[in-house]
Amino acid sequence: MHDSAKLESAKGMEQVDVVIVGAGIAGLYATYRLRKLGLSVRVYEAGSGVGGTWFWNRYPGARCDIESMEYSYQFSEELQQEWVWSERYAAQPEVLSYLNHVADRFDLRSDIVFYTKVLSAKMDNASGLWVIKTNRGNRIEAQFCIMATGAVSSPRIPDITGLDRFDGEVFHTAKWPKKEVSFTGKNVGIIGTGTSGIQCIPIIAKDAEHLTVFQRTANYYVPIRNYPLDAESQAKIKIDYRAFRQRNQQMPYGYSAGDPMNKGSALDRTPEEQDAEYEWRWQQGGFYFLAAFEDLLRNPKSNATAADFLCRKIRSIVDDPETSEMLCPKIAFGCKRLSMGTDYYETFNRPNVSLVDISDNPITEFTTNSLRAGGGNHQLDCVVFATGFFDMVDALRRIDIRGRSGKRLSDRWEGNRNPTMYLGMVIPDFPNLFVVSGPGSPSITSNMVQSIEQNVDWIAECIDYVRSKNLHQVEAKPEAEKQWADQVDRLAAGTLYHACNSRYVGDSTNNGSRYFMPYLGYPDYVNRCNEVAANGYSGFNMSCRSAVELRSRSERTDGKPGQQQKLQRA
Ligand code: FAD
Ligand code: NAP
Repeated sequence: MHDSAKLESAKGMEQVDVVIVGAGIAGLYATYRLRKLGLSVRVYEAGSGVGGTWFWNRYPGARCDIESMEYSYQFSEELQQEWVWSERYAAQPEVLSYLNHVADRFDLRSDIVFYTKVLSAKMDNASGLWVIKTNRGNRIEAQFCIMATGAVSSPRIPDITGLDRFDGEVFHTAKWPKKEVSFTGKNVGIIGTGTSGIQCIPIIAKDAEHLTVFQRTANYYVPIRNYPLDAESQAKIKIDYRAFRQRNQQMPYGYSAGDPMNKGSALDRTPEEQDAEYEWRWQQGGFYFLAAFEDLLRNPKSNATAADFLCRKIRSIVDDPETSEMLCPKIAFGCKRLSMGTDYYETFNRPNVSLVDISDNPITEFTTNSLRAGGGNHQLDCVVFATGFFDMVDALRRIDIRGRSGKRLSDRWEGNRNPTMYLGMVIPDFPNLFVVSGPGSPSITSNMVQSIEQNVDWIAECIDYVRSKNLHQVEAKPEAEKQWADQVDRLAAGTLYHACNSRYVGDSTNNGSRYFMPYLGYPDYVNRCNEVAANGYSGFNMSCRSAVELRSRSERTDGKPGQQQKLQRA
């Protein structure tokens, strides 16, 4: 622990400048970045190690879908020069060892308290500080709080009748045990065919006696075409890594597979030309397919050409016509994040693999040794839930976060109100609280390492601004949040992202409405964030310590929340 973190407040509570929740890619970089500003930092992490997503998702086949040379930090030239990736797309153990290396190289662990869950964060209006409490009895005060709790971090196990009486083993891809799991000789069931399912199905199929895949929605899949990375191709990038990163930042999703993006519509090409383009991209593997034509996610007719190509691929690979029809997606191409993996469709030609369509006949219940679904009863020794995660803000909802008015953050998002944030990072009534990769930022539509570094840099600069101007609190204005949310809506309106239920679209169990969460438009988002900062943090109120104390005193005398004091920026 840094010495500066050992301060105690008047209330006998430990005090630091910044508390960070989560030690994934975001929490690690935030720790590094804020320490560089000379601030004392404390990180709480529920897991026993660093890595977040890559700590928890240890399922067989877990691998990144953005190329390793890009799915990595760029904040340190030395780090990006010295780290050597072994594959085009790194597997989970390699990403995790990279993140452990980062934690060691920059001595980040000394500020992280592992195995500790933050239960609450409450704004103490008298001091203008956040008071944070954990499940292990820690109580700490901090001027700033950064929620690096992840947008894909709260695993969802569906509430299925009888699960508690099922005698077999039960796994979730995002809660995978550290010890090796053997499926040899077992009848295995997998529920879910998103990317996690698509990555682990081919590998589990090789071990299992029989694998039954329960599919509710067929998603679009392209081969990832992974291969070992040789020293020469890495050296080519490393000669000018900075330029490589800068170029990628200009791409629509912040990664190189966005280039070349064909301008114009698929409909401007003959069917033969479309096929040639799609075939080239199918052979490239990965996200190149998404950039085949710029109107794929805008024009349903153009979209249908990509869908048709991919269905023809399925029919050419999968032997059984009934199975191949089930695997052909019925949703718009790209409305869910495109899935990629290795030998996914080929796996359905194995004699020990069967596909059960549960779109019309859903799962009804577990018995002690089977799952009733798709109108049949399937004997199982174990079940793997590849059922994904609750929505982007679920990890935040689970913390009792209360702002200036004392209202809970999660209540703000109940009823007809959607989880919105100004710039995807800040929320009115919650001064000095920042969220990384929140709704209203590109987050899950982008190369997330890049988006995370951008968010954290922006937050660090904002904190530095507050402190250097002798201010105490920074808080988003409600009207700025509203305008930002409207802009997020406008960007998504008219796209086919709205055309299906996905992680991009708000969890309809929340309030029944459908709302799009990420900010579409990668370089544009970064420019807008930079403009806000360059304009002296437009859309924010800033208060100095005396104003915060004055407001608190007036609240105590009136018993009413005081007027937010607006100060001239210094
Ligand atoms: P996380 O890695 O989710 O870390 C959040 C941390 O916060 C967790 O460790 C959690 O334990 C901790 N936490 C949460 N709540 C609390 C609490 N109350 N108290 C204490 N600790 C708490 N994105 C890409 O761009 N490319 C990819 O290739 C890619 N691959 C992925 C593969 C998988 C299997 C999954 C699930 C996601 C993938 N993603 C990918 C998205 C991925 O989540 C991000 O790229 C990135 O790892 C997120 O980092 P993070 O630090 O923001 O969040
Ligand atoms: P996901 O994409 O949300 O997929 C979950 C799957 O489970 C879907 O097929 C869903 O069906 C199904 N499902 C959920 N509840 C069900 C129920 N009650 N009954 C039957 N089926 C049910 O989750 P994921 O695959 O874990 O991926 C989550 C996120 O992480 C995505 O953004 C993904 O891109 C990312 N991820 C990335 C990588 C990578 O990049 N390498 C790897 C894994 C995950 P419906 O579609 O019908 O809801």
